[in-house]
Amino acid sequence: MYRNSWIEIDVDALKENVRKLKQKTKKKFIAVIKANGYGNGDAAIAKACLESGADMLAVSSLDEALSIRNAGIGDELLILGYVDPIHLGLCVQNNITVTAVSEHWVKMAMQQQCEGLKIHLKVDTGMNRIGFKGCDELKNGIEMLRKMRAEITGIFTHFACSDVSDNRMTDCQMTQFQKIVEELEMPFEWIHCSNSDATVHYHESFSNAVRCGLAMFGITSYKTDLKNVMSLYTKIIHVKKVPAGQSVGYGATYVTSKDEIIATVPIGYADGWVRAHQGRKAYVNGYEAEFVGRICMDQAMLKLEHWEEEGTVVELIGDHLSLCQVAEELNTIPYEVMTLLSDRLAKVYKRSGNYCESFTPRFDHLKENDA
Ligand SMILES: *Cc1c(COP(=O)(O)O)cnc(C)c1O
Repeated sequence: MYRNSWIEIDVDALKENVRKLKQKTKKKFIAVIKANGYGNGDAAIAKACLESGADMLAVSSLDEALSIRNAGIGDELLILGYVDPIHLGLCVQNNITVTAVSEHWVKMAMQQQCEGLKIHLKVDTGMNRIGFKGCDELKNGIEMLRKMRAEITGIFTHFACSDVSDNRMTDCQMTQFQKIVEELEMPFEWIHCSNSDATVHYHESFSNAVRCGLAMFGITSYKTDLKNVMSLYTKIIHVKKVPAGQSVGYGATYVTSKDEIIATVPIGYADGWVRAHQGRKAYVNGYEAEFVGRICMDQAMLKLEHWEEEGTVVELIGDHLSLCQVAEELNTIPYEVMTLLSDRLAKVYKRSGNYCESFTPRFDHLKENDA
């Protein structure tokens, strides 16, 4: 890709984070790489996770699962979300484990050829999103799944409040989950409940696996020693002096109060750099420059303190502007900022100081900087 805006992924840091999380929990590690690896490229992120000891991959949909299979990755793969039972044949063919979400879902699955299909049972302990409600519904579902000769390999639930330090809700969900699993008296190979925040903050010895997404990128709601993985950069493609009293951008929402230096960068809301960034700052050569005027679809304007040459690198997310800070300033969460970044942005993977994968000649300057 040739546009001067790119996501940079520190693969070494990602791998270190996965190893650390796995060591810390001493459980099997399910690497959650849904939403195109949280916007960072599903296959590349999956490979890095597997190299550092991930025992299973998890995605949210059949399309995401097939994208992983099409990339030639054949490892254990679980779909956490709803799969329309009419597509279960595809899951068997591709050795994809699916989530059984209710008794009704299992009934519909019975009309399909499901012999050998691997299943994890989802238990709803408080999210009220998807999942079996209680033991009776589960027992009915399990009986039907056995008749279909499906293979029940796991059971899981999902916490609603693992991001708050008060564990009362999580305790309550955990107690329910444990009681249900014990009552079923089945030898589950996979028992899992903790997402990233629960993995670093909530300790329980009942499950045998954790399910982490965001923590692999170094981010949780708690203080940890995990490393930042993802950065976002663009480059100044145009710079000019604008006299006092002129407006910048659509709607003329910003008017220069004196002679100002205005730079243009090639990133906009179609890249996921949403209009809410207007008035926020980017990091340019040692100082913060404000986004002035409306963010356009493909471009945005910055007010510079000093003249900067065209080609100057601008940090949007990185060492000086953390993803958490950006999310907070936008009144949202890091997940949303990350997954909004679109496929139009190039992805540059840094491994042992080398830039690779979607590396293009345009990024030659990065090699020099890294020396
Ligand atoms: C997304 C998701 C996860 C991973 O969440 P993180 O907070 O990113 O670790 C785990 N489990 C389920 C069911 C999910 O949907």
